[in-house]
Amino acid sequence: MTMREQTRVDRTWVDEAVRRVEADANRSSDTHLLTFDLPGRHDVDVYLKDESSHPTGSLKHRLARSLFLYALCNGWIGPTTTVVEASSGSTAVSEAYFARLLNLPFIAVVPATTSPAKLELIEWHGGRCQMVNHPGQVYDEARRLAAELDGHYLDQFTYAERATDWRGNNNIAESIFAQMSGEARPVPTWIVASAGTGGTAATIGRYLRYRRHPTRLLVPDPENSVFLDAWRLGDRGLRSASGSRIEGIGRPRVEPSFVPEVIDEMVRVPDAASVAAMLWASRRLGRRVGPSTGTSMWATLQLVAELQRDGERGSVVSLICDGGERYASTYYDPSWRAEHGIDVTPYAAALDEYERSGSLASVVTEKPSYSS
Ligand SMILES: *Cc1c(COP(=O)(O)O)cnc(C)c1O
Repeated sequence: MTMREQTRVDRTWVDEAVRRVEADANRSSDTHLLTFDLPGRHDVDVYLKDESSHPTGSLKHRLARSLFLYALCNGWIGPTTTVVEASSGSTAVSEAYFARLLNLPFIAVVPATTSPAKLELIEWHGGRCQMVNHPGQVYDEARRLAAELDGHYLDQFTYAERATDWRGNNNIAESIFAQMSGEARPVPTWIVASAGTGGTAATIGRYLRYRRHPTRLLVPDPENSVFLDAWRLGDRGLRSASGSRIEGIGRPRVEPSFVPEVIDEMVRVPDAASVAAMLWASRRLGRRVGPSTGTSMWATLQLVAELQRDGERGSVVSLICDGGERYASTYYDPSWRAEHGIDVTPYAAALDEYERSGSLASVVTEKPSYSS
């Protein structure tokens, strides 16, 4: 729905739509903050904010709710609007859920490499999928499609940072601090969160400043993502030729929702290390987590090792971004990994050794690298 048409969305319809979205939130409970025991002795407590327990299985449930409320309250969505998104999967799954809640048609523009399980999920929630060959094409195709259908392009990469109430309203940061309040070390030394849109990191970083917490924010970045170099060089114009192999995080361009100013540290995590850490964390947790959770897990283990070495005590909060069920035929399948050149062997060996010896130092196989 565009300004040019001078149409106004019926307020009665908007009232009802907002009620439905709010009632859905009211029926939902907060996600758990799990304790996560590391091998061996340590003076750093690790916690995992389990975002896989949302009704649509990932942290994108929060984003989808925020994007729909933002669009509804801006008058951008009406009773007949086709809702369109550019998404590598998880966002579209959650948005399809909210579109169905409002009886609106939903189309996800996704890269052809998206896991079949995710495409099925989007369709199961009532959405339709439109494929493009290169991850970089999703934006233009989504915009074109929305214009053609007189629909609305939700545009997660632009609006993620502003659709979420960074000061509170039970955003992920406020929830983490509330859930940490009874712990021995209630103010985290670090929070570790990877970036896809960059929205989660932006919300956490802003909240830390607003509430004047000393907590620092570490954002691990996968291979082929420009976020780390953009943070280091202050260059928002960077591009990478190929897309990230870790679904949900790492981007070939600096997304508008990526806010480098609130990030204290970034670290490059090799894709094979992400997947090895995903497999390792899944064994320790007794259930499968997604590959981006592995990226944060690898960075968290390195961070804890560093804190230990420096004799620091404290707590670190990392995220379970989504569960691993969606990736059974991809990251969890050894032949898929071989096909995609992801050899977890050296990292898995380091983690096995860590498990046996309990020595955190042994997992640090390389210094954090600050360039691609
Ligand atoms: C989107 C996403 C992230 C990163 O969250 P952003 O707030 O978009 O930066 C991490 N993991 C998964 C699985 C995701 O879908």
